[in-house]
Amino acid sequence: MGLKEACGVIGIVSGRGLAANLAVEGLFALQHRGQEAAGVAAYVPVEGGLAMHSFVRPGLVQEVFAQGVPTALQGAQTAIGHVRYSTSGGSAAENAQPLAMDSRFGAVAIAHNGQLTDAETVRQRLLEQGALFRTTSDTEVIVHLMVRSKASDPAVALRAALGRVHGGYALVLLVGGRLLAARDPLGIRPLVLGEVAGEPAVASESAALAAMGGTMIREVAPGEIVTFQAQGPQPAGWADAGSPIRARAFCAFEYVYFSRPDSVYAEGSVGAVRERLGEALAEEWPVETADTVIGVPDSGLPAAVGYARQLNLPIRLGLARNRYAGRTFIRPTTEEREESLLRKLAVVKDAVVGRRVVLVDDSLVRGTTARYFVARVREAGALEVHLRIAAPPYRHPCPYGIDVPTTTELPLADETPAQLGKRLGADSLAFLSIGALRQVIGGQLCTCCFSGQYPTKRAVGSA
Ligand code: 5GP
Ligand code: MG
Repeated sequence: MGLKEACGVIGIVSGRGLAANLAVEGLFALQHRGQEAAGVAAYVPVEGGLAMHSFVRPGLVQEVFAQGVPTALQGAQTAIGHVRYSTSGGSAAENAQPLAMDSRFGAVAIAHNGQLTDAETVRQRLLEQGALFRTTSDTEVIVHLMVRSKASDPAVALRAALGRVHGGYALVLLVGGRLLAARDPLGIRPLVLGEVAGEPAVASESAALAAMGGTMIREVAPGEIVTFQAQGPQPAGWADAGSPIRARAFCAFEYVYFSRPDSVYAEGSVGAVRERLGEALAEEWPVETADTVIGVPDSGLPAAVGYARQLNLPIRLGLARNRYAGRTFIRPTTEEREESLLRKLAVVKDAVVGRRVVLVDDSLVRGTTARYFVARVREAGALEVHLRIAAPPYRHPCPYGIDVPTTTELPLADETPAQLGKRLGADSLAFLSIGALRQVIGGQLCTCCFSGQYPTKRAVGSA
């Protein structure tokens, strides 16, 4: 079983030798995409060529690079970086990225956001043919397929390798002295292209380009491979769109929860989309008798703003967030997740006492957060607590790299919203419909976690 990774990646060229430093800046802006490990790999010019150096450690970006950018990475003209989301099982250290190795192309480094749905089969076949694997991640499979292709050009080898796997991915590589970046054929995982001080950069989110002082130019197209190098003319055919784009299936959950509100994709700013999801939720499921709207910080706040605006209700900041508290969602047991919520958020009593409250959150996965805050808001003296979720029920596992619990942990797999609302202690519970979600975001989306419709042929359990 491959590990699931909803991570963040970055790749940058800097003729001024600042590639690693800029990559670390960019990673700070991608921290929300993964807090388990962070790392940078870079080509540093040496006499007669380029040396590959990497620095990858468990921890937050600010911890990993607490002493600044390591000396070995200074002067880099090309760099890639990665932040890793935690996973269920698997050793953090061995699977942290970028992965660096030697190959017939010379020193290679690779970092990956997403998941290949058939990595296990491909890996098994490679093992039988005598391949050695250093990690349990599906990322390593891609490099093996590249070196086994006949191509001498790394971009052509990457194209061949990607033709043999399926799934959702945003990839960055340093190979053959160049920076390569690739996006899966349906554009499930995000990857944007921009410039920083006039030189090319790619990142999972535009927020990272902005953090490096740059701007976004466009999304990397679904199925596209882009390649850059620091010196000399850019490689011919630097943008290779592969086969013509027939369909897109951008991950709806990036808009709902995962991406930063200031990031921008083809369909608009994530934060603005979240406000519109809140408005649509209010249209579908108004609470006519409510007197206060409260959003669950941080990612539920824009939807709460939209919900309140649509119904002309006052919004109150009824939950105070402790900015120093760590993660809640990925802790293994309900008890531990509730302990973390206690540490992370507290009710502002005067904002809720004697009021009929609508509690708005961006999504509901296992229901831990919702049950916990319905109880706390009621304890603090609210008369009624209505739950409104600015996304459809999360019912199905994601095979493309969003790390969520297995179906058995998803209460919504076989409960109606009314039953669930009751169990969570709410006076009512309602979710945004899939139709409204599609209409608000626009474009062609992957909604597999909500709808169970998987855009690739091979999906869950078909390894
Ligand atoms: P639940 O508590 O129902 O299991 O999860 C829903 C809450 O977790 C929401 O407040 C939402 O903002 C957040 N959430 C949803 N998906 C994810 C995720 O993949 N990672 C993290 N860290 N939080 C998530
Ligand atoms: Mg939340």
